[in-house]
Amino acid sequence: MTDNDPKGAMAQISPQRVGLKSEFKFKCHPEVSCFTKCCRGINITLTPYDIIRLKNRLGLDSEEFLAIYTEPHIMEKTDLPIVTLKLLDDEARSCPFVRDDGCIVYEDRPTTCRYYPLGVASLMHKEGSDDEGFYFFVEEPHCKGFEEDRQWSVAEWRRDQAVDRHDEINAEWTDLVVRKRSFPPNIKLTDQSKQMFFLSSYNLDKFRKFVFDSSFLERYDIDAQTLEKIRSDEVELLNFGMRWLKFILFKQGEFKLKSAEGDA
Ligand code: SF4
Ligand code: SF4
Repeated sequence: MTDNDPKGAMAQISPQRVGLKSEFKFKCHPEVSCFTKCCRGINITLTPYDIIRLKNRLGLDSEEFLAIYTEPHIMEKTDLPIVTLKLLDDEARSCPFVRDDGCIVYEDRPTTCRYYPLGVASLMHKEGSDDEGFYFFVEEPHCKGFEEDRQWSVAEWRRDQAVDRHDEINAEWTDLVVRKRSFPPNIKLTDQSKQMFFLSSYNLDKFRKFVFDSSFLERYDIDAQTLEKIRSDEVELLNFGMRWLKFILFKQGEFKLKSAEGDA
C-alpha cells in the first residue's frame, strides 16, 4: 500500500491536481446501482480522530478497537506506523461496517470515507507549500456517482461531509508525519520512538494511562489546568501527545522537565 492510499484499492488516481475551488459533478445515494460497492476491497488508513470517533461509537477502548478492527503497517515513505481498517474475510473483502443498506457507523465514518470520491494528499504535501490542500479524484470504474447531476466545489464537498473538523483535529498529527517525511531516508527512528508514535496517535486510552499512571508526571512539569483538560478531553489529550512527540522526536516546542538531569 502507499502512504495515503485512498479508499479503493482498485481506484484510478486522476493525475489532475484539484484545489478548493475546483468543481465536479457527483451524488451518492441508496438508489445508485453501485451502492456500497466502494466499501469493499478497500484500504482505509485511519487517522487518530477517526479512531476516537469509532471506538466511542462502538463502546470500546482504543486497545480493544485496535485489536478487533485494525491492522498495523509501516508507512513506506516515513517509516512511521499507521493503521488501516481490517477487512472481513469474505469474497469481496468488505469493510466490517458495511451492510446492504449502508454504513452502520455513518455519522462517525473515517475521514477517507468522508472525502471520497476525493482523495487528499496532505500526507504527501511538503512543508512550506500552499495551505489550500492538494486533492485528486479517486475514479473507480464501478462508481456511478459521477453520472449524477449535482455540482460541487471541493470546498462545498468538504463542508457537506464535515471533514474540516477532522482535518483540524488531525492537523498536529499530519504535521508530524509531513515533518518526518521531509527527513533524509537514512534518518531512522528507533523502535521505541515508533512505539511512542503509535501509542500517542492511535492507542489514546493507553497513552492516558501512560501519562497519569507511569513516572511521566515525575519527569515533566505539566500545569494543573492542562492536566485537567487532558484527563477529560480526548482531543486535548491527542494534541498534548502530538506536542510531546514533536518534543521527544524532533526537539521542537517546549516540555518542562522537573529535574535538570531529566531526560525525555
Ligand atoms: S456512487 Fe460511488 S460513492 Fe456512492 S455507493 Fe456508488 S461507488 Fe460508492
Ligand atoms: S466505514 Fe462506512 S463508509 Fe467507510 S468503508 Fe466502511 S461502511 Fe463504507
